[in-house]
Amino acid sequence: MSQDQSEKNSTFALGDATKLVHGGTIRSEFGETSESLFLTSGYVYQSAESAEARFKGDEEGYIYSRFLNPTIKMFEERMKLLEGADDARATATGMAAVTASVLCYLNAGDHIVSAKALFGSCRYVVETLLPRFGVEVTLINGSDLEAWKAAMKPNTKAVFFETPTNPTLELVDMQGVADIAHNAGAIVIIDNVFATPILQKPLEHGADVVCYSATKHIDGQGRCLGGIVLGSQDYVDDHLHDYMRQTGPSISPFNAWVMLKGLETLPLRVEKASANAARVADVLADHAKVSRALYPGRADHPQHELAKRQMKGFGTMVAFELEGGKAAAFDFMNKLEIIKISNNLGDTKSLVTHPSTTTHQRLEEEDRLELSITQGLVRLSIGVEDCDDLINDITRAL
Ligand SMILES: *Cc1c(COP(=O)(O)O)cnc(C)c1O
Repeated sequence: MSQDQSEKNSTFALGDATKLVHGGTIRSEFGETSESLFLTSGYVYQSAESAEARFKGDEEGYIYSRFLNPTIKMFEERMKLLEGADDARATATGMAAVTASVLCYLNAGDHIVSAKALFGSCRYVVETLLPRFGVEVTLINGSDLEAWKAAMKPNTKAVFFETPTNPTLELVDMQGVADIAHNAGAIVIIDNVFATPILQKPLEHGADVVCYSATKHIDGQGRCLGGIVLGSQDYVDDHLHDYMRQTGPSISPFNAWVMLKGLETLPLRVEKASANAARVADVLADHAKVSRALYPGRADHPQHELAKRQMKGFGTMVAFELEGGKAAAFDFMNKLEIIKISNNLGDTKSLVTHPSTTTHQRLEEEDRLELSITQGLVRLSIGVEDCDDLINDITRAL
């Protein structure tokens, strides 16, 4: 078995699209073009001595798929090349990735500062789960750098946020927060799902650790759950590796194979869906029934300048507000023909969500309103369909 050296041997720097087609490939002796699916839990050894040497770490090789499998390794390697990270570990879901990223690093008595505007389950992890294990938590308004500064304490060990946020597409200044966190001795963990690794590279803006739900754009076709955590060699060696190996939130080789193949078309899908999203946002902004349209690529987005600074493109998500509240939102959603009602996102199929009754139902109304999640707020995850069809569907339903 040999590692495809296309990345290491190239005499020139490769772009993302090339890395995502060729990077990290491990070819078997059969010389297959497409990446192999190693659907195996264990491995056989040539001798008892070899098994002993592998467990001792004296001999390279696979031991058990909970912590090493060739297909999973290909997915991790390809993601490392895309993200520019030293190392990575793939996980069973995006939530397993987020949970691993904080639990592997924090101890009882440590403090974490997090933005309030988070994917619902991420908010549960920082607000409810971590305090049960003695981690102190401060939740703040992530777009306010002064609030980040004021929240730092001597025992602050990590900060956590997503940008753009779900569902209102507010931005957090990654470099601004990273400077504050690093000054206080804390690491920066970013959930980069909404932006995608194509349009935003958090490690270039001060982040130390990046998490993904690969379920979203990386699979992008609604088939498999998966996730990944990427970071420095020290973070992976000293914290993440043992946590993954001993607690086992690992991805299945089959799902890793789906993700690996998904990466090959990720730039094409993200580019097309983002172009569609930008057009949909403009149509919504001009529509009489819409009181506000939220898209970081529009000049009227309050943080458009920051978006231009830290994003290479503005993403596949659009949110907007209907004046008639929940009734108007439900009526709009029920009238759509092409765009499907679902809480998923980052799919080739365009999807619509009513956050206040689904993804953010668990929050108190007061907390929802603090995050601008009103009853009239609708979230769209735009897919790769013909944009004219999406616009017809939306304007008809409005
Ligand atoms: C979906 C999502 C997650 C969780 O990922 P799963 O794969 O569903 O576990 C975490 N963060 C964000 C921003 C997400 O959109």
